[in-house]
Amino acid sequence: MSIGILFTGGTIAMRVDPVSGAAAPSMSAADIVAEIPTLGQVADFEIEEFSRLPGPHVTPEQMWRLACRAAAWLDRPDIEGLVITHGTDTIEETAFLLDLVLTSDKPVVLVGAMRTVSDPSWDGPANLIAAVRVAATEGARGLGVLVVMDDHVFPAREVRKLHTESSGSFSTPEFGPLGVVDSGRVVLRRRTVARPQWQDPGADPGLRVQRLDTRVALIQAYTGMDDFLIRALIGHDTRGLAIVAFGRGNVPPAIVPVIADAVSSGMLVTVSSRSMAGRVEARYGYDGGGLQLKHAGAVLAGDLSASQARLLQMVALGLYADVASAAELIRHFADCD
Ligand code: ASP
Repeated sequence: MSIGILFTGGTIAMRVDPVSGAAAPSMSAADIVAEIPTLGQVADFEIEEFSRLPGPHVTPEQMWRLACRAAAWLDRPDIEGLVITHGTDTIEETAFLLDLVLTSDKPVVLVGAMRTVSDPSWDGPANLIAAVRVAATEGARGLGVLVVMDDHVFPAREVRKLHTESSGSFSTPEFGPLGVVDSGRVVLRRRTVARPQWQDPGADPGLRVQRLDTRVALIQAYTGMDDFLIRALIGHDTRGLAIVAFGRGNVPPAIVPVIADAVSSGMLVTVSSRSMAGRVEARYGYDGGGLQLKHAGAVLAGDLSASQARLLQMVALGLYADVASAAELIRHFADCD
């Protein structure tokens, strides 16, 4: 039995260019593994270089291709778990999407690095070794997709990048990590919420859906906002909109009518919070409050970040041609605990 390691890029595959002084992709999968000679002592592994992309270059289409490739790896009986290296800027999005669409109970662990091999404090080796340990742990089965950084084990649904540079930049702001890797021992102390239940009968083995509908935009509300940006989306090829609202799920009053218009035009609209923890609710009844947004037909997305709600919309709209069914799936998923 062995662990598959898929390399997709990110700082873990970068070096600092001596001329510009800035980090850029430069290491192959084989180069990275060659820098970590003790990796083979942790578990048998096989590697594949899937891509060499910085996190911000990753698109939902690439996430979907990665999901299809991951499903193929996980289908192999001789593979006990999968590790995927990824740019940390977007690791939480890819982890969340994989969690939504992969069916396997085998551990799937995303990992990256905050410092490059050129930096004295390159965290790639320790992070990759910890990720392989978690992927080879029986107790990590059935927990869904995980992110392992700085010896902490996080669930895809809750993990957030909180710091731009610190090696401990990842956290689950409300409920804490699932566990830790303590001197090489994987200690798991809580479970994740139930895995997604949907299943498209036409999906390929190992996947819950046949396709994503990636025509989903994301807009952040700001003080003094008018309806210009959201109005520009209506009537174009946009099937969904994920809004980043304030606090409990409230927005400036001027955008409530355009949100209602977007919903009436057939767009799926979700509301998340720019706060890092907690759920959005119809708690406030003033102009622009969550209650008005709910009455306007927007879906309050619970504790999902807007980036997560956007990906969930892509899954839901890929599954259902009608927006009402897609909205119902999101409501159900956002409320589960
Ligand atoms: N800082 C990011 C990383 O750690 C850059 C990226 O996402 O490519 O990988």
